[in-house]
Amino acid sequence: APAANNLEAFFMPFTANRQFKKNPRLLAKAKGVHYWTPEGRKVIDGTAGLWCVNAGHGREEIKQAIAAQLEEMDYAPTFQMGHPKAFELAARHAAMLPGDLDHAFYCNSGSEAVDSALKIALAYQRARGEGTRTRLIGRERGYHGVGFGGISVGGMANNRKFFGSLLPGVDHLPHTHLPARNAFSRGLPEHGAELADELERIVALHDASTIAAVIVEPCAGSTGYLPPPKGYLQRLREICTKHGILLIFDEVITGFGRLGAAFAAEYFGVIPDLMTVAKGISNATVPMGGVFVRKHVYEGLMTGPENAIELFHGYTYSAHPLACAAASAVLDIYKNDGLFQRAAELAPYWEDGVHSLKSAPGVTDIRNLGLAAGIDLESKPGAVGARGYAAFVKAFELGLLVRQSADTLAMSPPLIVEKNQIDEIIDIFGKAIKQAA
Ligand code: PMP
Repeated sequence: APAANNLEAFFMPFTANRQFKKNPRLLAKAKGVHYWTPEGRKVIDGTAGLWCVNAGHGREEIKQAIAAQLEEMDYAPTFQMGHPKAFELAARHAAMLPGDLDHAFYCNSGSEAVDSALKIALAYQRARGEGTRTRLIGRERGYHGVGFGGISVGGMANNRKFFGSLLPGVDHLPHTHLPARNAFSRGLPEHGAELADELERIVALHDASTIAAVIVEPCAGSTGYLPPPKGYLQRLREICTKHGILLIFDEVITGFGRLGAAFAAEYFGVIPDLMTVAKGISNATVPMGGVFVRKHVYEGLMTGPENAIELFHGYTYSAHPLACAAASAVLDIYKNDGLFQRAAELAPYWEDGVHSLKSAPGVTDIRNLGLAAGIDLESKPGAVGARGYAAFVKAFELGLLVRQSADTLAMSPPLIVEKNQIDEIIDIFGKAIKQAA
């Protein structure tokens, strides 16, 4: 393993760069729900990597599928060409997706999926003769990756601050989390429809004929895990339908089982027009992302006066054969191991566990849905993020990986986690919060 003081030479982690350089943490080995450091210290993976290793690390079935694919064909272009595994995978995804979401575009990450979905939405509006619809609506505290499309519609001003060249005409819905009303409450918050009506206000402001699409995470993940209030997504759907606006669900985190259903769209019974996925699609064993679209979007693109031939879009690695092989193998695992069902069954146990932390020092808010949670710590005066970082570092020292941003910590264990491992996660996390107080 490289000595920690060599990191400077070759590694450029932009996120939390300065802190990382002062205190580098390395992961060298992984299996099941555990990582090991280069020194051999075992760390329980409380975040499924980055919300992605849903079936656990080092799955033999995925390894074999990738090896077999390598034997057969390493790579094939998807420009003017195709390969059977891509079509087989798309058929399998279509069969498990709710409603008539039945066409797939594959790419390599969540950020690519988001940019692709935004382009597809704009192209669709044009194709059906609604070329004035160029505005995109995101949401405050939304996270949609780091491409220019994603940071434009994303709701974290901090992620945009260095960049002037954003997409024009983007507006943001207010975020959905009202801590004063929801802290420590279980189940979904109540104020959904009234918040979704903010979309009517935005539509009235700009006129529906200028708006192409609304993009939201059904449950905001990276910005602190914010489950949607009751009725929120249903109401957004109604308003979008009424005004001819496409609704995009960014299911990069919620897709493939995190909520105890295949997709949040299924969990909430709300069908978006487009859906972006990544992470759990391939268990993160190889990079992959995707956009799923409904039949009317596909047909509109293919038959409109300015049809999809006008849309130039695709990546060298779209539907990469190794990614398709991995994604197909992970679908088998999800099914054979019943992992979505398992997440649903474990969710109440998980909820009890994370809510047992509410009396830990400095905890001001706890949110959970499915097999994930967000926990806010009270910020130290004049030092936003210091307490969260301290808790994160303590947790790692004590043998637990969590995700930190500012004074919020998030956890999302692999869906194969056992109850005693949930106990261990909660126990270590409680100790880390206490030691960071
Ligand atoms: N959308 C959502 C909802 C995400 O959570 C993420 C990543 N955390 C992204 C998009 C971006 O994905 P990637 O990091 O693979 O580009």
